[in-house]
Amino acid sequence: MDYDLLIRGGRVVDGSGLPSYVADVGVKDGKIAEVGRLKGSAARTIDADGLAVAPGFIDHHTHLDAQMLWDPYGTCEPQHGITTVVMGNCGLSLAPVKQGIEDAIVKSFVRVEAIPRSALELGVKWNWRSYGEYLDNLEGKVGINVGGLVGHIAVRHHVMGEEAVERKATGAEVQKMRGLVLEAMEGGALGISTNRNERHMREDGKPVASRLADDEEFYALCDVLAERNGGVIETILGRNKIEHFKWYHELAQRTQRPVLWQSLQHRWAEPNLWREQLDAVEPIFKAGYQAYGLSHTVPLVRHFTLKDCQVFDEFPTWKNLMFLPVEARNQAFADSDTRNKLRADLANPAPTNFHKRWDILRVEKVVKPENQKYAGKNIEELGKMRNQDPLDAFLDLALEEDLGTVFWNANNGGDWNAMGEILRSPYVLVGTSDAGAHVQFGADFGYGTILLGLWVRERQVMTLEQAVHKLTFHVASIFGLPGRGLLRPGYTADVAIFNPQTVNAHEPEMASDYPAGSKRLIQRADGMHYTIVNGSVIHEDGRMTGELPGQVLRGPLYREQKAAA
Ligand SMILES: [Zn+2]
Repeated sequence: MDYDLLIRGGRVVDGSGLPSYVADVGVKDGKIAEVGRLKGSAARTIDADGLAVAPGFIDHHTHLDAQMLWDPYGTCEPQHGITTVVMGNCGLSLAPVKQGIEDAIVKSFVRVEAIPRSALELGVKWNWRSYGEYLDNLEGKVGINVGGLVGHIAVRHHVMGEEAVERKATGAEVQKMRGLVLEAMEGGALGISTNRNERHMREDGKPVASRLADDEEFYALCDVLAERNGGVIETILGRNKIEHFKWYHELAQRTQRPVLWQSLQHRWAEPNLWREQLDAVEPIFKAGYQAYGLSHTVPLVRHFTLKDCQVFDEFPTWKNLMFLPVEARNQAFADSDTRNKLRADLANPAPTNFHKRWDILRVEKVVKPENQKYAGKNIEELGKMRNQDPLDAFLDLALEEDLGTVFWNANNGGDWNAMGEILRSPYVLVGTSDAGAHVQFGADFGYGTILLGLWVRERQVMTLEQAVHKLTFHVASIFGLPGRGLLRPGYTADVAIFNPQTVNAHEPEMASDYPAGSKRLIQRADGMHYTIVNGSVIHEDGRMTGELPGQVLRGPLYREQKAAA
């Protein structure tokens, strides 16, 4: 046999961003052997006529550190064409660990990433100490490729125990942390991550350990990467502020390593922030340093009725009303004094997540046939049609329908033009799936299929070639994954085969496939036909084949050590 696998007649979108072309792709020994009009024999042939053949997608922002231990596919990653995942983001990793700090790590994961404690207790066996040993645990047992960052939180607890959530580190402690970071990098970590988000607490209400670190400490840890010239630095600082860009610049300049920051997205509540962020990051790149903003492809849409609604939880009067029994709530909504208080809540100029715009919130589904004329109208239009103030129109319609009216809202990502500019920016890294985290509140495995379906096919904010580049070679380049992210001879045969006319993600749905039967959201895809990892088909039209060809992808310092040995 000339090839183990021959993919015939597809449209090769090779990950470089260059125009696609029709060709066959021959795979041998886990690598792309040839691309072109191929005549050789093959053990298996896939007819890809009418389909796109692309490098497998690389999901760089996951929290699958625990899930990969019990689920070799990181389900539902392969269903969306993802062949490689990076774990250990936002300061959180399951290594290095020493006896006695396991629960400090669990407490952080449970609260920050909202992973059920029962699943972690049952699924994580702690049969490792160093980062390298943690990765060893995954060798030969995974269906997709995995790499990871070493999390600042574990490193800090390792050196300081519980005092890590109470105080600054001493100089001697920082030196010990540097030793652990070096050991993790030599054991195969792809970089380091930290977390300074003011909202990120442990299960016991204490701040996560990395929040107690000052610049001096974190810079000293990042210097390890700078001194050895390898790895990425991933950060989360919390509420986006333009002052942060000074910090990103300083860190990127000091280390000359790629710095990743969260996040760059369009938000109606601060509609110009994304542009200010793009303007603020440009000088860093112009000066020759890398500081990529992470962005999301998924508009944050909420469908709600006034029977069950969290959209207004940040406004005290609204929130109190939502906790009333439905009868009492009906009365309150009808009362003019209460309405004035609701109005006053919305008029408060303090920054909020809700955009406070009646032209964005809209009627999605009505209960009564005579109200059908309002379906699809935004609340401002509704007010005009009913000759009412928008708030009165909104509440009166809901009251007429016993609070059964379904409304639609999106705080983020709803402006096509803004999203186009954000997603096209060369300074933006697409995808914040957070796979493996917030498992009962959301599932964004489909950030890639949504990019291809919603943003490329429906909204045409970029070409298919540009989108595939964003999902593949762009990520492989920044994370230093040699031999991945392009469909070229000699590259690893990680491949996604999909139909550009139908590819998209479903709405998430509840499943109970976590340890201890814990519930979580999964997400299916349309139009993703084959997912191939290191030359083996692992996913075929929604069905997993059971193959486990995934590799542990170890970083530059590990490879350097190995080459020297
Ligand atoms: Zn995260």
